[in-house]
Order: sequence, then C-alpha cells, then structure tokens
Amino acid sequence: MSAHPHSDSRRRFLRHTAAGAVLAPFALTSGSSVLAAEPNRVASGAGPNFARGEVLRTSGQLTADGKFIEAPRALPVAGHSDVLVVGAGPAGIGAALAAARAGAKTQLIESAGCLGGVWTAGMLTKIIDGEKKPGIMKEILAAMMERGSSVAKQTKGAIYDPELMKLVLEEMCVAAGIKIRLHTQLVGAVVDSRNRLTAVVTESKSGRQAWTAERFIDCSGDGDLAAQAGCRFDVGANTDCECQPMSLMALLAGVNTELVPEFIREIGGEQAKTRFHELMKGAGINPSYRAPTLRHLHSGIFSLMTNHEYGVPAYDAAQVSDATIRARAEIHAIVAGLRKIGGPWKDVAVVATAEQIGVREGRRVRGRYTVTANDLAAGKKSAEGVCRVTFGIDVHDVWSSSTHPNSTAVMTEVNRFKKLGVKPYDIPLPALIAADVDGLMVAGRCISGDFIAHASYRVTGNAVPMGEAAGLASAVSLRKGVMPHALSWQDVKAT
Ligand SMILES: Cc1cc2nc3c(=O)[nH]c(=O)nc-3n(C[C@H](O)[C@H](O)[C@H](O)COP(=O)(O)OP(=O)(O)OC[C@H]3O[C@@H](n4cnc5c(N)ncnc54)[C@H](O)[C@@H]3O)c2cc1C
Repeated sequence: MSAHPHSDSRRRFLRHTAAGAVLAPFALTSGSSVLAAEPNRVASGAGPNFARGEVLRTSGQLTADGKFIEAPRALPVAGHSDVLVVGAGPAGIGAALAAARAGAKTQLIESAGCLGGVWTAGMLTKIIDGEKKPGIMKEILAAMMERGSSVAKQTKGAIYDPELMKLVLEEMCVAAGIKIRLHTQLVGAVVDSRNRLTAVVTESKSGRQAWTAERFIDCSGDGDLAAQAGCRFDVGANTDCECQPMSLMALLAGVNTELVPEFIREIGGEQAKTRFHELMKGAGINPSYRAPTLRHLHSGIFSLMTNHEYGVPAYDAAQVSDATIRARAEIHAIVAGLRKIGGPWKDVAVVATAEQIGVREGRRVRGRYTVTANDLAAGKKSAEGVCRVTFGIDVHDVWSSSTHPNSTAVMTEVNRFKKLGVKPYDIPLPALIAADVDGLMVAGRCISGDFIAHASYRVTGNAVPMGEAAGLASAVSLRKGVMPHALSWQDVKAT
C-alpha cells in the first residue's frame, strides 16, 4: 500500500480547494454586516496548535436575506490514508478491520465518543443474523464470549453488553493498527475532475480539517459521505421519503429476573412483548412502541426498547434533537409508571439511556446493483455475493396510526412480500459500490437496496460482513491499481 500521499490526487485536491470546491465561495453582498473580519492568524498555512487551545477562526458576512457567507480559509490536511472509513458502527468496524489487515493504512472517523454505532452509542444489545457468519462477525462474537460468557449468550441472535462491546472493538481496532478518530463528524467531500473522491472534510474540537485518501468507504448508516460526494440516493418508503421510526434504547436495573420471566423476551418468547404491553396498559402506560421489549443482559441489567419516534428525518438535527428529548422523557415516565405497579417492579430504575437515538433508516445510496424485494422472495444467489442474509422483513410502523392515508399502499406491498417469505439471498459486491463517484464504497444500512429489502438486510449481523467485503475490496483495488468497480468478488477473494 502507498506509504506517501498520492501526489496526483493531492495536486488535484489542492487545485479543487483553491477553486473553492472545499471552502465556501467568498462573496460580498451589499447590506451585509461583517461578523469576524479579524485576520485569521493561521490562515496563511500553519495549522492551529491544539495543545495551546488555538483555533482556526471563522470569518464571513451575514447577508440581508439571512445567510452567512463564510470566507475561504486554508484547512490543514489532518492525514492521508490508503482507506478512509466514515462511521464506526458494525459496518465501519468490519470495513476498517478488513482494510487494515489487508495491509492498507486505514483511518476510521466516527462522530460518537466510542466505536460501535448502534451497538454501543445506540445501546442495541442484540445482534441478529450474525450467528452463522464467518470472518470478523464470528471473531467479535467469540471475543465477547471470552470476555464474559454469560453476557454474549446465544439465543435467536446474540445478546451482548454494550459497554463490553466498546472495549472489545477498541482492542480489535487498536491491534489492527487502525488510526481512530472519535468525536469527529464528516461534513464535506471533494470529487476531482475525473469524478474520483479524493478528500473529505470534518469538524471536531480541532476545528475544520481535510483528510485525503486513496479509497473511501461510507459506513455512516445515513449515507452522509455519499451525499456530500454528490451521489444519488433514495430515502424511505415512498416519494414523501417517509421512514421507519427511530427508537431510544435504555438500560434498566432493580428487577429480579426470577420474578418477571414471562416479560423477558428471551425467556417468555414472542408473547413476552404482548404481556409487557398489557402490563403497561393496565398501569395506565401507553408506550409509543406497542411491542415493548425487555431483555436481561446479565447481573440484573436489562435493556428496554419501548419508544418509537415517528416521522423524524435522520438528517434534520433539530428534529432529531426534539425526538431524543421526547424519547428520553417517555422512557423515564414509563419506568416511573412501572415502579408504581409495585411488587417485582417497585425498585426498577433507568441506569442509562442511549447517547444516540437509534436510526433505522437513512439514505440508501445508489450502487452498481440494487437489492430488491424480489431478490428476497426469489432467494437470489450471486457469484458476487459478499454476505448471505437470512433475516426476514422487519418494518416497524412508519406512521403512528395504521389509518394514515399513506399507510395502505406501503403496507399492502410489505405484507405481499412478507407472505411470499424471505429465502436466504446474497448481497452482491456491486450493491456496495457507489454508482456515481469512483473510489467510494458503502456498507451497512446505507447500501443500494429498496425499502423492503433494506428492512431485511439492515440488521447488524449483515452490516459487519458487508463492511468486511468493502474494506477488503478497497484494499485490494488499491493494491491492483484499479477502482473497486473494476474488480469482481472472485478477484478480491483470490488476492
Ligand atoms: C432501535 C433499533 C433497533 C434495532 N434492533 C436490531 C437488533 O435487535 N439487532 C440487529 O442486529 N439490528 C438491529 N437494528 C438495525 C441495525 O441497528 C442497523 O441497521 C445497523 O446499525 C446498521 O449498522 P451500520 O454500521 O450500517 O450503522 P450504524 O450502527 O448506524 O453506524 C453508523 C456510524 O456512523 C457514525 N456516523 C454517522 N454519520 C457520521 C458522520 N457524518 N461523520 C462521522 N460519523 C458518522 C455514527 O455515529 C455511527 O457510529 C436496530 C436498529 C434500531 C435503530
């Protein structure tokens, strides 16, 4: 793998930044007020000294029509890598580990303060469709078992402790030599005149920074990198972009498992959710998720999913903030209501709510193949298959009421495919390769698929092998000196 910046792409990158592709174009608007006209002490080249608390200051102008025109500033290039992965959820972990182990200098960029995405910051607690997967998924499950066998016990899916997951993932990624940057959000991308992705821009406590790389993998779940790079994408169930609801997860304690087995999903079976809902209703609690799920992890620690936030777009920070605050209040109110029931519930308490509300759906980036509901019904296999999916179609209510005018059309189609059933099917490599920009792969829930197919392949036991394939294909494509779309999965495996 290259040990030095790719001089050609670097030259092009600098040309593009100079042309204003990265930095906001500077424009003067009459009637505007100067916000920060002071000369920028680091704009001339040297980056800010973080240890001294220096910052790269913003300057620009506020226009009369309520816009802020940011002045150009020279961004420090924070690093160059062979493979740069955005998002350290299950897909991003698979991608970064596979790329690094294949010899690529790998940079992982994550907006949360831990690795794992919905596994950790989202407090998921159950891995679905991961049991029979080889490779990195198998390794993660084994590492979790080693760390505490009572934690990662097998049920239908693997139950795990999110705190332990943080540690296991950090150990694996550090051992693989991955450069990890937490607390850093991707906010921009640069495509050169050959239609090749060459750099990304991030924001963090260290300010706005650019990163160059030879190959990029979008594992942001929401397809943020692909969207910034100008790729086409689809959102939701229909042209109104209506998506499955978000859910805030929580950990509980203060209940004796032996006194409430019929309410615990892994002991009481599918009916446990109905019983738990009935218990809540009897106590005057009306949860927004009508199939509340209680899981026992270990040591009297439970996970709870009892919240649905409807109609919240994953990319609207204001709406996501409101949904998070609403959801947290709901969880605390529900647990207070359970406590009032008394008996085995008298001491139940919220130990923690997730830092990140769980997002089921974001952008589905257009790839060089699109996985469809018909593929699920047919059990479509492919010589390019990187992951075999066995999970069914799981569409959480898109609307808070089944009488919503848009519900019938969507749910009729969903139910038609549910009736047809899902036969094990393959995700082909081209579904992970962005159609519109070269040098960009995607993995996890933002790959190329339709609304119904996404409701099956999105679970984390599939996100990991998809990431693993994207990481390996990116590293191999670089080694072979071709773009990922020029490779077949057989080429990748042979290498
Ligand atoms: C409430 C809920 C319950 C679910 N239940 C299950 C279940 O029981 N079992 C199961 O296997 N699956 C379940 N799923 C599905 C599964 O969680 C997702 O589809 C899965 O997370 C996909 O993994 P991912 O890596 O693609 O995305 P994510 O886990 O969402 O990871 C994306 C990562 O990218 C980071 N990121 C996003 N944008 C940026 C950016 N701009 N810059 C930097 N970093 C960024 C995020 O912080 C995150 O770490 C559930 C999902 C939800 C929401």
